[in-house]
Amino acid sequence: MKRTVYGPDHDAFRESVREFIARSVTPRTEEFIENRLIDREVWLEAGRQGFLGLEVPEEYGGSAAGDYRFNAVLGEELSGVGAALSSSFGIHYDVVAPYLVELTTDEQKKRWLPRFCSGEMITAIGMSEPGGGSDLAALRTTAVRDGSDWILNGSKTFITNGYCADLVVVAARTSPEKKAKGITLFAVETGMEGFTRGRKLDKVGQPEADTAELFFENVRVPAENVIGEVDRGFIAMMERLPQERLGSAVANLAHAAAVLTETLSYVKERRAFGQAIGSFQHNKFVLADLVTKVEVSQAFVDQCVVAHAEGELGAVDAAKAKMWTSEVQGEVLDACVQLFGGYGYMKEYRVARAWMDARVTRIWAGSNEIMREIIGRDLGL
Ligand SMILES: Cc1cc2nc3c(=O)[nH]c(=O)nc-3n(C[C@H](O)[C@H](O)[C@H](O)COP(=O)(O)OP(=O)(O)OC[C@H]3O[C@@H](n4cnc5c(N)ncnc54)[C@H](O)[C@@H]3O)c2cc1C
Repeated sequence: MKRTVYGPDHDAFRESVREFIARSVTPRTEEFIENRLIDREVWLEAGRQGFLGLEVPEEYGGSAAGDYRFNAVLGEELSGVGAALSSSFGIHYDVVAPYLVELTTDEQKKRWLPRFCSGEMITAIGMSEPGGGSDLAALRTTAVRDGSDWILNGSKTFITNGYCADLVVVAARTSPEKKAKGITLFAVETGMEGFTRGRKLDKVGQPEADTAELFFENVRVPAENVIGEVDRGFIAMMERLPQERLGSAVANLAHAAAVLTETLSYVKERRAFGQAIGSFQHNKFVLADLVTKVEVSQAFVDQCVVAHAEGELGAVDAAKAKMWTSEVQGEVLDACVQLFGGYGYMKEYRVARAWMDARVTRIWAGSNEIMREIIGRDLGL
């Protein structure tokens, strides 16, 4: 079905993203997986192409696209190559950007945004802690005021880009008695004394996306690095999580659709019992169901993209999009592995890697159980 969400400007932008990927990413995919890191040069190239500052005002080096559809196009194209690429870059241009653009002072914008756009400064966001990620209001990292500075203590875990990030938006408790209303966001930068990182975490999938633990031991964070208002960090996160979940939904579907397309080619070529395996009725029906599910899901996500571009996407619809697409993706990729037979279980095959890469999407950005909580609460239950 023809998608109506994008116009000629988005199509032209998509072409430029495709060229960038073909030139700077695809030839180096294996290298990134082996090194368990996306090379900095790719970040700089993405910066030169103007892909990192889509939400950033022009005076700070961005393109101020003012239309979420551009974020979505970038997310779709990056996910088409690999989930790790889209999650690493997505955390930066899609998840962290709104915090650094909407909540910061002019001085902070001047200090951070030009390097954010150029790719010289890679960013991450640290909400989850070893003690828990779902119950964000219960986080235990603390920041205590000392003169005009804050002294940060605690740790974060599972942080995407955590190993290489130059700036991490860290959520910390500033008013212990106030639970959700006592959390503040801080920009913690490389080189701050007492800020250390653990090893790169050894994940089931997405090896090239660096994911790390972060430790804060009496880190002195100056007042100029407080992001937004003191004690309003939880609200700031709640207001921005719908975009993170929509970005996740866009990526989930694009990733699933890309592997499904490859699988459709494979089942036409691969033969058993004298015929193409895709022509067995069972497989044909499986694929018919999956293609239908992806396309129907796409219609909902496209509506969410349009709603968000118009500033109207609610937390419940974002939760539905994130939850549903990650479940559909899981179903699609599991079936694709099955259709590839033994090859589907070999890491050198894209389908096997995609299956491993995708599992986390039902856990992160708010687990699917938390998404169902949000949806269920909206039903008055
Ligand atoms: C590869 C990767 C990258 C990540 N990147 C980041 C990042 O960049 N920044 C960041 O801050 N975090 C990141 N995360 C963390 C992620 O958001 C958390 O893992 C997630 O929110 C779940 O938190 P948890 O792991 O502590 O699980 P827990 O909160 O301990 O939950 C464990 C299980 O209990 C379920 N559960 C919890 N509460 C309820 C409930 N009320 N009802 C029903 N079930 C419930 C959960 O759904 C889950 O199945 C990342 C995680 C991974 C794996």
